[in-house]
Amino acid sequence: MPKKLAAGNWKMNGLRQALDEVRALHDACPDARCDIVICPPATLIGPMVEVSNDMQIEVGGQDCHANTSGAHTGDISAPMLADSGASYVILGHSERRASYGETDAQVRAKTTSAWNADLTAIVCIGETLEQWEAGQTLDVVGRQLQGSTPDGATSETLVIAYEPVWAIGTGKTPTLEEIGAVHGFIRDALVKRFGEEGQAMRIVYGGSMNPKNASDIAGIPNVDGGLVGGASLKASDFCHIVKALD
Ligand code: 13P
Repeated sequence: MPKKLAAGNWKMNGLRQALDEVRALHDACPDARCDIVICPPATLIGPMVEVSNDMQIEVGGQDCHANTSGAHTGDISAPMLADSGASYVILGHSERRASYGETDAQVRAKTTSAWNADLTAIVCIGETLEQWEAGQTLDVVGRQLQGSTPDGATSETLVIAYEPVWAIGTGKTPTLEEIGAVHGFIRDALVKRFGEEGQAMRIVYGGSMNPKNASDIAGIPNVDGGLVGGASLKASDFCHIVKALD
């Protein structure tokens, strides 16, 4: 079974003072057995890498451009993230797909760029409320999975995050059975596409994961961790989730 991953997505939250939460997290769960990564806003990547230097906490970006450099005002490239000390990057988050119209092909190109910079890509997929209500979840997730991931993925370079859009920041989650069914479907698709390596790839769940539901979600087969938004901002909450995944 893959080693579990507790990933925090801080989204557009956090000023320098928020680095105290990283120290607090380390103090609260110093012996975590799962991997921990926090993806802060880009402004905090460098400072967070310094703070977490001798901790078991890795740092990631929340997006990168597909190109390595050039005239792309406001964007950040994968080599820049790596140069700042990041080792992961979240790609294709539904908020970016919705706000910036990111397509599967763009996410796939960004993933290749991330790999070229030795970053592990956390590629997000998930259906909207409309699609969920129409029973299209597996179709949507299957299509996004195929379209957003390049060939040649390994368990070291790719993490899949299943994030139902309607569960993000809403306090709602699918039932444990529903999460299990989607993760099982993703596992089968990964094995079909990448062979044995697909068994070792981590499939993490995201969407209103919190200290209360984390143990139940962590116990579902093929759930290899969580991608946590709101509940990753406070060390005390995130530590509960880390412990549930341990
Ligand atoms: P919440 O945990 O706040 O629902 O956010 C999930 C998410 O979007 C993580 O990427």
